[in-house]
Amino acid sequence: MKRKILLTFPSELTDLPITYELIKKYDLMINILKASIGFNTEGTLLIELEGPEDNISAGIKLLTEKGIHVDMYHTRIQWSKEECVHCGACTAVCTSGALSMNMASWTLEFDEIRCLGCNLCVNSCPLRAIGSAS
Ligand code: SF4
Ligand code: SF4
Repeated sequence: MKRKILLTFPSELTDLPITYELIKKYDLMINILKASIGFNTEGTLLIELEGPEDNISAGIKLLTEKGIHVDMYHTRIQWSKEECVHCGACTAVCTSGALSMNMASWTLEFDEIRCLGCNLCVNSCPLRAIGSAS
């Protein structure tokens, strides 16, 4: 299974090798989607974990035991294929690559796993084919 989680570190924990531990101890695949870690400041890390459900649960437990705050992350963007005219305007604001144009078929593709939920695409669509689900 896959699970996307948002980690928030206090400043004293930003140098922990947590991805290494999750891989080594629980055999999890880690996909880092977004990182914001500064010197002596709180850090955030949006990651996707992939592996057996029990291993993911054990990994999340380890993180919380180390003092890292863990939020389950749910994409709240909905894309209406029926309303979309594949103009590509929304891809210009999507820095994560969740929205991209398939250049062979000239159609929009939405990769929910990569979506950061920033909502920047919502106002970029002239047809309102993308909306916030929350
Ligand atoms: S919410 Fe942000 S990351 Fe997600 S598809 Fe829209 S622009 Fe891309
Ligand atoms: S801006 Fe709207 S209509 Fe254009 S590709 Fe994106 S979702 Fe489709």
